[in-house]
Amino acid sequence: QAKARGRNGYRFYAMSMTGEGVERLRLETWLRRSLEKNEMFLNYQPQVEIDTGRLIGVEALVRWNHPELGLVPPARFIPLAEDSGFISQLGEWVLAQACRQMVLWQEAGLVVPKIAVNLSVRQFERGTIVFTVGDILRRTGLEPHRLQLEVTESLIMNTGDALQYINGLHALGVSLAIDDFGTGYSSLAYLKQMPVQTLKIDRSFIKDIHADANDEAIAIAIIQLGKSMNLAVIAEGVETDEQAAFLLRHGCNQAQGYFYSRPVMPDDLLQRWRP
Ligand code: C2E
Ligand code: MG
Ligand code: MG
Ligand code: MG
Repeated sequence: QAKARGRNGYRFYAMSMTGEGVERLRLETWLRRSLEKNEMFLNYQPQVEIDTGRLIGVEALVRWNHPELGLVPPARFIPLAEDSGFISQLGEWVLAQACRQMVLWQEAGLVVPKIAVNLSVRQFERGTIVFTVGDILRRTGLEPHRLQLEVTESLIMNTGDALQYINGLHALGVSLAIDDFGTGYSSLAYLKQMPVQTLKIDRSFIKDIHADANDEAIAIAIIQLGKSMNLAVIAEGVETDEQAAFLLRHGCNQAQGYFYSRPVMPDDLLQRWRP
């Protein structure tokens, strides 16, 4: 709730020294030192072609292992990192780490077709995202077409110059996906101008796809939209084979979710997918 009031609202809240405010300040201080202390690492969740089970990509998901708190979920620290500005540093580290890992897998005999990395709106606001991504690709040697950047509808709609940055990223040869599609506001007219390649159907629509007629209708509509706009569509949060079968039946052949695999460590991915 404090967060909904934006940065200033948050600061005010923190200064009020309620228990939660103090806790946030403490977390924020720890967070700032997490990278130098090597507490951050990435997990990778496979994305698969439903009918063949083939690996088509992975999504990089950041994890924070704090010595006292244990594993802190991204839902708890990403918003904090965004509020404090630390996300720029963290986001760059994630990008570089993800690209490096792709090269390491390649050297170990597994060519992962692509890696998806989440970008936060604050990484766009700095105006250096195109340079940063280009630089990381050069430094790591990852082929640009193997990198997919995930952005949300709100990032696209609420960032001035979003189109300019997205065009710049596209020009580097990386692809773009819209994450959590259907949960935000976006104008289809605006979307159409964007060099976006993939829509990710949000997990919330997949969850009750069999029980809830609205979710079913929304999922089908997104699949159709993707088809007519010539975009790939991938479903998030697929947990059962019924959900996978439903998607396939309705023309969506890409999925990510616990049914296939949880997010895993790099070696686990090698074990399971190396030919
Ligand atoms: P997201 O990008 O939509 O990532 C998918 C989330 O759904 C991940 O949660 C993943 O573990 C979870 N998930 C995948 N399959 C299933 C499933 O079958 N069932 C259920 N219940 N959950 C599933 P996670 O790793 O906790 O990340 C949450 C969110 O935090 C991400 O949502 C993303 O918005 C954000 N995030 C994670 N890593 C990064 C990062 O490196 N940078 C930024 N900016 N955001 C990140
Ligand atoms: Mg994502
Ligand atoms: Mg998502
Ligand atoms: Mg999300």
